[in-house]
Amino acid sequence: MRKHEKQSDIKLYINGQFIEPASGVYFDNRSPFTNEVINRVAEGRKADIDKSVQAAKRAFKEGSWGTMKVSERMKYIERIADLIDEEAEELSYLESLDTGLPIAQTRNMAARAAENFRFYSRMVQTRMHGEAYLQDSEFVNYTVYSPLGVVGLITPWNAPFMLTTWKIAPALATGNTVVLKPAELSPLTANKLAEIIQKAELPEGVFNIVHGYGETAGAALVAHPDVEAISFTGETVTGSIIIKNSADTLKKTSMELGGKSPLIVFDDADLDRALDAAVWGIFSFNGERCTSNSRVFLHKNIKDQFVQALKERVQKIKIGDPMDASTQLGPLISLEHFEKVSGYIELAKEEGCEVVQGTVPEQFKAGNYVPPTLLLNATNDMRVCQEEIFGPVMAVIEFESEEEVVKAANDVKYGLAGFVWTNDIKRGHRVAQAVEAGMLWINAQNVRDLRIPFGGMKASGIGREGGHYAIMEFYTEPKVIHVAIGDHLI
Ligand code: NAD
Repeated sequence: MRKHEKQSDIKLYINGQFIEPASGVYFDNRSPFTNEVINRVAEGRKADIDKSVQAAKRAFKEGSWGTMKVSERMKYIERIADLIDEEAEELSYLESLDTGLPIAQTRNMAARAAENFRFYSRMVQTRMHGEAYLQDSEFVNYTVYSPLGVVGLITPWNAPFMLTTWKIAPALATGNTVVLKPAELSPLTANKLAEIIQKAELPEGVFNIVHGYGETAGAALVAHPDVEAISFTGETVTGSIIIKNSADTLKKTSMELGGKSPLIVFDDADLDRALDAAVWGIFSFNGERCTSNSRVFLHKNIKDQFVQALKERVQKIKIGDPMDASTQLGPLISLEHFEKVSGYIELAKEEGCEVVQGTVPEQFKAGNYVPPTLLLNATNDMRVCQEEIFGPVMAVIEFESEEEVVKAANDVKYGLAGFVWTNDIKRGHRVAQAVEAGMLWINAQNVRDLRIPFGGMKASGIGREGGHYAIMEFYTEPKVIHVAIGDHLI
C-alpha cells in the first residue's frame, strides 16, 4: 500500500507553460486523511484569468485548433486518452490523496476519464454533421456546427478527474479552447492532466488551468467578456450566482447542480438487489456523489426486513485508509465538509430520527471520517430529507401507496436522479415517468452510458452533458448557410 506522500507545489498552466501566479500567492492543499498540508497551490486571480483567456483567445483566433482537419485534432484527443491510461495508477493515487476517495474506486475513474476522450473522438467524427435543406430549385440551405471560441469550465471536488475530463473532452474535441478553474480542494489530478496535455503537444494556449478560489478566479472567468460559455458543475447556490454574473456578458451556461435523489423500493422488488443498490448508491464515493440515493423510500410491508438488512450492512462497510485497496469508505474532502455533514446528523436527531452508524476505527480519528449513517423513521418534510447533505448519510422513509411515494419523491426542490425497484413492469415505468428527475433507473443503479443526456431538472440543473447533447447543443453553435443555386435573389 502506497503512503500519503507530500507533493510538489502546483503552478498555473497558461499558454503551454507552468507559471507563477501574478500575485505570487500560494494556498495550502490539505489531506482529508490527516488534515496535514500535502502541497501548496498557486492562487490565480483576475490577472491570471485575463492572461489565460488571452492565450486561449489567441489560440482560437490565430491558431489552427478550431479549423484543422477533424482527424488531425482527434489524434491529439486520443493521445491524451493514451497518456491517461499510461498514468492511470498515478492519477488514481493523486485523486485518492487529494479527495480521500478509496483507491479501488478512483482506479475505475481514471479508466473512465480516458474513455471520455476516446468517446468524444468517436462522437465528433461520427455524429457532428450538419443537415442540408433543398428549399426548391433555387436554394439549398445547410448547417454547420462551429466551435464557440474560449470556453470556461468550473468544476467541483467530487470525482474531480472524471467530471473535469467529462467537460474538457467534448470542449476540445469540438474545436474550442479552454480555461479550466478546478475546485480549490482537489487540484492534483487537474495539474497532472496539464502535464499530460503538455506531453501530448497540444498547440499553446488551447488548454489552460487557473487554480484558485471561486469568488476570485471563478468569478473573473464568469465575468470575462472574451469567454463565450461557462460549463459549471457544483452546488445549486453557486450555479445561481454564476448565472447572475454571466448575464452582463450574455454567456451560454450549462449547470450540473445538486441532488436529493429518491430510491423507491416496492414490496414486490428483488430485495437483495435493491439492498445492494441502495447501499452502493449512497456509501460508495464516500457519499459525495450528486446522484446518490440520499432518500430511500421503503414500502411498509418490507420496511422492517429491509432496515434490519441495512443495519447489518452498515456495520460491514470497511472504513479505512483511502490507499488500502480493500477500503470501501474513506474520509470526507475537508474538515469544513466533515462539520457540515456531522451537523446534519445532529439535526436528524433533533428532528426525531433514530441514527444508526458504523464505527470509525480509532487509528483514523485524525481524518475527516463520517461513518456510514442511517437516519431511520425520517419523514420527507424534515430538513435532512430536503437539503443536500453530500455525505454517507441515508434517510429512510416509509410509504404505503404508489401515489403517496411519487408525491413525496417529488416534494423536494431538486430533480437530478431517481431509482425505482419493483418487479411490476408497468408500475416501474409509470413511477419512473412520474418522478421529476433528469435520470431514472428501474431495477438498476447509476449505469453509465456516455451517449445519454446527463443532468437534472428543477434546482438540479439547466442543460445536459453527454452524448451528442454536449457537442451539438452546448460546445458548438449551429450556423446556417443559404446558397443560391438558381437565378432568384430571394
Ligand atoms: P461548489 O459550488 O462549492 O464549487 C464548485 C466550483 O465552483 C469550484 O471550482 C468553486 O471554486 C467554484 N465557485 C465557487 N463560487 C464561485 C463563484 N462565485 N463564481 C465562479 N465559480 C465559483 O461545489 P462543490 O462543493 O465543489 O461540489 C459539490 C456540489 O456539486 C454538490 O452540490 C453536488 O451535488 C454537485 N455536483 C453535481 C453534479 C451533476 O452532474 N449534477 C456532479 C457532481 C457534483
